[in-house]
Amino acid sequence: YDDRDGKIWMDGKLVKWRDANVHILTHGLHYASSVFEGERCYNGKIFKGHEHSLRLIRSARLLDMPSPLSADEIDAAKEAVLKANGFENAYVRALMWRGSGTEMGVSAKGNPVRFAVAAWEWGAYYGDAKWEGAKLDVAKWRRPDPLTIPTSAKAAGLYMICTMSKHAAEAKGFSDALFMDFEGYVAEATGANIFFTKDGEVHTPLADRFLNGITRQTVIGLLKEAGVTVHERRIRPEELDGFEECWLTGTAAEVTPVAQIGDWRFEIGPLSRQISDRYEALVRA
Ligand code: PMP
Repeated sequence: YDDRDGKIWMDGKLVKWRDANVHILTHGLHYASSVFEGERCYNGKIFKGHEHSLRLIRSARLLDMPSPLSADEIDAAKEAVLKANGFENAYVRALMWRGSGTEMGVSAKGNPVRFAVAAWEWGAYYGDAKWEGAKLDVAKWRRPDPLTIPTSAKAAGLYMICTMSKHAAEAKGFSDALFMDFEGYVAEATGANIFFTKDGEVHTPLADRFLNGITRQTVIGLLKEAGVTVHERRIRPEELDGFEECWLTGTAAEVTPVAQIGDWRFEIGPLSRQISDRYEALVRA
């Protein structure tokens, strides 16, 4: 990813892709003082871009990092990156982190908070699984207690077990891993939220202990608009046996049907297709 053409926004200006570097004593690299956003631009417009900018600032604040930019300034930086790279359809990655500075230890108040935006073309997150259905392994690790770590932040530190679990799942031939939460209830995948259907109604884990995805909230809105009842509640793993359809939601994943979780199978049915089509229409509207 390092050595290619293109432009990246770093601390107030566009720099060449291959020159977008940081010092090895970057605090974020050592202590995970880093938050980020994943967004998609469709036909020249970032879907809910401003909402993502606000979430980035909120995540930073949760990590005691005052944002050096307003949400409008973040929006403008993202626009500048898309324009400089000539992208109409792309994935956008904004990043805010504690840089190197006066201190190199756990405390880092004197180290500046830095900001960058990159964008690149990125197709279906789960590749062919978008049509065939993703296959999920059950992760060995669990989503942490909100009293352990600020679980509503989109913070780098929360992804350590995501990478570990996704690698373990991929090594076994699965597309991704599904996490249970710290109490053993169904939580989310490593970069997406999860939904199930039963008897024409939808069930999704209550998002009070992991990222309440912008796509998740959008899809709940679309379902309600379509007159579908949505239950946000604690879901026990044994219940997976009784669900008919299952899908994942996320900016990168969009709406991806799930065919399998461990030994449980799901049909790629009408509601997954309908909601995927409605989401597609909305983001491209
Ligand atoms: N959970 C995790 C762990 C994620 O990384 C993501 C992707 N940002 C989501 C859920 C979905 O969030 P969103 O719909 O806002 O992209």
